[in-house]
Amino acid sequence: MDIKKVQPASAAAQALGWIDEKTRAIVPAIHPATTYLRDEDNQYRSGRIYARADNPAFDQAEALLTQLEHGHATALFSSGMAAATAVFQALSPGDHIVASRVMYWALRNWLLGFATQWGLKIEFVDTTDLAALTKAVQRGKTKLVWVETPANPTWAITDLAAAAEIAHQAGARLAVDSTCASPVLSQPITFGADIVMHSATKYLNGHSDVLAGSLTTARDDESWQRIKKIRAQLGGVPGSLDAWLLLRGMRTLYVRVNAACRNAQRIADHFESHDKIEAVLYPGLAGFAGHEIAAKQMKGGFGGMLSLRIKGGEAAAVAVAAHTQLWKRATSLGSVESLIEHRSSIEGAGSPAPVDMLRLSTGIEDSGDLIADLEQALGK
Ligand code: PLP
Repeated sequence: MDIKKVQPASAAAQALGWIDEKTRAIVPAIHPATTYLRDEDNQYRSGRIYARADNPAFDQAEALLTQLEHGHATALFSSGMAAATAVFQALSPGDHIVASRVMYWALRNWLLGFATQWGLKIEFVDTTDLAALTKAVQRGKTKLVWVETPANPTWAITDLAAAAEIAHQAGARLAVDSTCASPVLSQPITFGADIVMHSATKYLNGHSDVLAGSLTTARDDESWQRIKKIRAQLGGVPGSLDAWLLLRGMRTLYVRVNAACRNAQRIADHFESHDKIEAVLYPGLAGFAGHEIAAKQMKGGFGGMLSLRIKGGEAAAVAVAAHTQLWKRATSLGSVESLIEHRSSIEGAGSPAPVDMLRLSTGIEDSGDLIADLEQALGK
């Protein structure tokens, strides 16, 4: 059977079914080498020179992600931030960028700080509002539209097909941080995106033990070549062991994400009309603002991320997190264990997170246990 034609869950489980030619091993070897032998005539026919630019440990994970995202090529990075910032570094000082107002806070801070000082002109808009997006994008001037959907930490949904059309009509490219959707639920390139970014630290690896990022491009173009050059020059690449662990994590991507989606939906349904909960923010709820667009562009579930607004304000929300036992009070998301976090205290000034809000990253534990733990914490 052609591995390119099987269901994505099958391609992921077998990591494309690659077999080591020499040993017949069904799991790749880890090559720790940082340098590679030149041919006698001084050429590098193997295509490998030095580990800052490239590493055989990346090949299988990059090929798998390319297939899952329906892209042309993928590059792994040392973190999601290394991947995201490479997209902006591939632009030129003076370039105009339109970005989602609700997005991963550390990237927003980097854009407001370093990227702005470096000369990029960044405009933050509510990208769920297509009229506002259309108004912000300037034909011939805007070079990039950066969208995160579902967006951290309110799970605002941006219409990818519409955003791609708006960007392209103005001659700009669309880049999507698809970390929270994962390739299981959404493939932005199929909606017209030019580049897809993941914090591979999250769902792709899935076990809170690898820091990594990825970019997948829809095509080989000048921008992609600049990104590859930036990676080779700056060396923001994972180590061989991390790339190997990432590939191992991706083999179970589909079962993990599907289990997290089921749990998140059950938790959202349970707390939607709870007397201690002000509001549940989850794209899978029919009353959620972006629900219909999410249903169109996220297939098979609405993600493992949700937020709960607790009646009683900030102190009540912090107290609930303090009393959870099964849910771990920790930052990050997309792992097998469930995490809970009072988001506005970590994001600080400029955060779109209401002070009474807890962000929940649902893991793969039993949903009854997760609900019971939240109930007992709410009851304290
Ligand atoms: N994008 C999103 C949506 C994230 O949640 C994160 C990290 O939390 C990042 C990007 C940055 O990824 P990393 O921590 O791997 O640098």
